[in-house]
Amino acid sequence: MKSTYIIVLGLIILNFSCKTTVNTDTNNSVNNTVPKREHTVQALLWQQQSAEYKALTHQAYNLAKMYLDNALANKKENSKPLAIVTDIDETVLDNSPYNARMVKYDVDYTSSTWNAWGKEAKAKAVPGALDFFNYADSKGVAVYYISNRKIIQLEETIANLKTKGFPKANTNTVLLRTTTNGKEIRRNDVEKTHEIIMLLGDNLSDFSDLFDNQPTKKRNNLVEELKSKFGKKFIVLPNPMYGDWETKGIYESSYKWSGKQKDSIRKSKLRLH
Ligand SMILES: [Mg+2]
Repeated sequence: MKSTYIIVLGLIILNFSCKTTVNTDTNNSVNNTVPKREHTVQALLWQQQSAEYKALTHQAYNLAKMYLDNALANKKENSKPLAIVTDIDETVLDNSPYNARMVKYDVDYTSSTWNAWGKEAKAKAVPGALDFFNYADSKGVAVYYISNRKIIQLEETIANLKTKGFPKANTNTVLLRTTTNGKEIRRNDVEKTHEIIMLLGDNLSDFSDLFDNQPTKKRNNLVEELKSKFGKKFIVLPNPMYGDWETKGIYESSYKWSGKQKDSIRKSKLRLH
């Protein structure tokens, strides 16, 4: 009797200890119990409502201006014309309304809804961005907008940037995605004619291809290695809503997870100590 009790207890313990941290249930009736974007509500509220978000973007652009002034003061006589490379989404334009709509209508990202939002061309400027880029333009520094918006979005993207007052947004300076997600080829094209003095972005791949398609640990290690560049040549803008930190990091570059599985993955990656 006692040995049976020990065996049963052992099986129960084994069952608990063998539970994977990811719920692999793909049953649709279960998946539907998790609202698709509910987990982004806190990030959205922070970006849209907190004064801390605005303080951080101003901090980023104040640092950018200091670094630019320094680069201008130290410009070599024979150097190529100076250029700044910037990302667009969540660096100069705020797309939080698109993300808020996904919560409201309980839908995930699709390229068709994203393109429709882009066509509205109503994204607001990220606080601090307009002053900085117009200041750079007034100093004769070229601005290149390198974004992974698709090339079919070029017209409305330029229209949105122009409407908000960003300088010299045109088909020569707004370089959208054609064949590859990686931005290195487009950065290299700019470097053929200009010296890139700084890069701005909310995603680490906006700065170097070292960060392309890397998992969380590698991304964190690279930031540690390159820490002296941040706040100087690399100016980072906050984006808690989405990014490679989520798709390549949290979800490990896999797009196969159900809503329920994603919920389980997110919770399994919370650090408790
Ligand atoms: Mg971005």
